Amino acid sequence: MKIRIAVFAVIFAILPALFLNGAEAVSVKFEILSGNAPIYQGDILVIKIGDKSAIEKFGIDVFGKTYRFNAQGLALIGISADQKPGKYDLVLIDLNNKETALQYQLFCHCCDCRTIEILLKDFGEERMKKFTPTEKQKKQRIREGEMMQAAYRSTGSLPNYIPGKFVSPLAEQDINKIAITDPFGIWRIYSKNKDDRDWHRGVDLRTGENAPISVVNSGVVILAEKNFLLEGNIVVVYHGFGIFSLYIHLSEIKVSTGQKVNAGQIVGISGSTGARTTGSHLHLGIKINDATVDPLKFIETANKYL
Ligand SMILES: [Zn+2]
Repeated sequence: MKIRIAVFAVIFAILPALFLNGAEAVSVKFEILSGNAPIYQGDILVIKIGDKSAIEKFGIDVFGKTYRFNAQGLALIGISADQKPGKYDLVLIDLNNKETALQYQLFCHCCDCRTIEILLKDFGEERMKKFTPTEKQKKQRIREGEMMQAAYRSTGSLPNYIPGKFVSPLAEQDINKIAITDPFGIWRIYSKNKDDRDWHRGVDLRTGENAPISVVNSGVVILAEKNFLLEGNIVVVYHGFGIFSLYIHLSEIKVSTGQKVNAGQIVGISGSTGARTTGSHLHLGIKINDATVDPLKFIETANKYL
């Protein structure tokens, strides 16, 4: 009985490709290298496309975004910490035929890993004093939000820079030895009503005073701004393939918007700028397209395969 079900599963997997692509059946093999089940919110998937000639031609659509393959045939997919748990299809798309919405199901060695299941992650919680902005500060937040969005949108024509592995954001510290002062994803509860909460969109790293902060990979600075209300002095770098890194609460910024940076280059000096910070630390964020992922886990996972 199990064999019969498996045979049906394979037939149903192949049929859509035959219909969508007429006579020419598309059967592109891929492998999920990382993120073997269970896959949790905040995780990263590394997907390898088997056929190197397909690298430029195809992308993967999931969570409403398209992910490209790098020269090694790898796609890094971020699962945001706030991605709704459940099952999602990974769909291979022809990048040259987006308008016609010609879609291919992605094939794998096994018959059903085109669908991934994302599980709820317990990030823990902590109490924190609520920051209530004044009317003037609310307007400032709106302006800053618009600047961030404009910076994220500015990357459309930028190339993919990542030449190799990611490096430590603290120039003088081994990435495996950095102390975390506040973990990624933790819920910050502001009052007795537990719905009055927000989650931590990065990881806080102990830096000490005036420590040099390095960019984690090559890229281009898309935002280098002083005195954001909560972030203080902030640098955002785009690395290509939809990947961004954010360096927050800096005491000094050492780069400017539009500047090309190489992996390990100093982008700023640690500090405690921003209205809520209580001591010198680096808030490091990693975004892949719209997904906010666990930065240190992202670096560890990506470095296994890059
Ligand atoms: Zn933080």
